[in-house]
Amino acid sequence: MMSRKKTIPLLHDHHNHPSQYAAFFHSADLSDVKEKGEAISVIEENTSQEEVNVVLGWNNSYYTFTEKDLEKFPPVIICNLSFHGFLSNDKAEEMVKESYENSEILERMKDPVWMEHNLPTIMNFLIEIENLDQEKLESLYDFYLERGIWEVEDMLVPNGKAIEAFTKSGYIERTDLWTDLPTYEKMSDETKEKIKGIKIFTDGALGPKTAAVKESYSLGNKGVLLHDEKSLSELLHRIDKSMISIHAIGNRAIETVVNTISGFQEEGIDLPKIRIEHAQFIDEETAKKAKHLGITLSMQPNFNLDSDHYTDRLSEKYMKMNNPFRMLIDKAGFVPGKDLIFGSDGMPHGVEAALRSSLFPPYPSQRLTLEEFKKGYCISDKNTGSISINIDKDKEEISVERIRAD
Ligand SMILES: [Zn+2]
Repeated sequence: MMSRKKTIPLLHDHHNHPSQYAAFFHSADLSDVKEKGEAISVIEENTSQEEVNVVLGWNNSYYTFTEKDLEKFPPVIICNLSFHGFLSNDKAEEMVKESYENSEILERMKDPVWMEHNLPTIMNFLIEIENLDQEKLESLYDFYLERGIWEVEDMLVPNGKAIEAFTKSGYIERTDLWTDLPTYEKMSDETKEKIKGIKIFTDGALGPKTAAVKESYSLGNKGVLLHDEKSLSELLHRIDKSMISIHAIGNRAIETVVNTISGFQEEGIDLPKIRIEHAQFIDEETAKKAKHLGITLSMQPNFNLDSDHYTDRLSEKYMKMNNPFRMLIDKAGFVPGKDLIFGSDGMPHGVEAALRSSLFPPYPSQRLTLEEFKKGYCISDKNTGSISINIDKDKEEISVERIRAD
């Protein structure tokens, strides 16, 4: 069979982190590195002795760094691929102690529970180290457009200063801003108005094995559940914004969120507009309940590949459970573009990887049609530009021919 040519609109990436990715635009990046020797060279070539260096994209399913390795590097903070999980060396710790207000933060980050409870604080600190400016924002939005992304949602904008950079550069027109509650509470009223909604975390991620699952990872831990129903409900009551997005990857976390919202409904409390971010291990019963409660699922087709990447920690059952798009659409009744929306989390950015994972996923239960992809991922205004793609069903391959902005 011949390959098919198709044209789709540019993307609205419903879950990304432009503040972080702009700040880290020139940082050393290990995302494509699978072997330790190469990782060491990338770090050595892209860091300096004079300052604290943020290193991105470390995948701990391929290799890890010993204390000895770390001490050979310039001052570094190495971020796990998922940004949940960090390594740092003594040089970085000394420099942070001398120059930053939050002087104990690197020490604290080594505790996975503290780390998961304070992730927005950590991200804001890393952005402060690498500095977010207008020039970096421009480079990032050029990079986005080359990959077919026109609009993005920033799930964790760090402060008013960053929002100023978005506003001055004009990219605010193409960006929805979210932030965590402590950061929001510190903002001026004027800045608060620019925030679309509040982001809450209820568990960690697969990378550091902190996503809260019911059946334990290979090492016998079940991840980190950051809120039970009681504390989540108290937190939700504190929020006066009408849009709330809740990070929940593992089934324990997702169930906690859905049961909490269900409790609101039973008590006759007005439901805020809730989005669950990731929802990777949602089961059918919970999905149907979530649908009934009007919850939107904000998911990442590119995370279908976690079923291939994390065979070291996920059981066969969990690999199959990951991103059950067919169940969500065909059985629970979620509608792409309406209450099922798609984004990348920047892992990786852009249309090609997202479309490949959607059309040719590791498991058939993860497959999306091109039409479903378009409804959940593309901007509705076709006049903004377009993406021409080639789909080869036989070879299970897609390629992007041309990306055009009008
Ligand atoms: Zn994210």
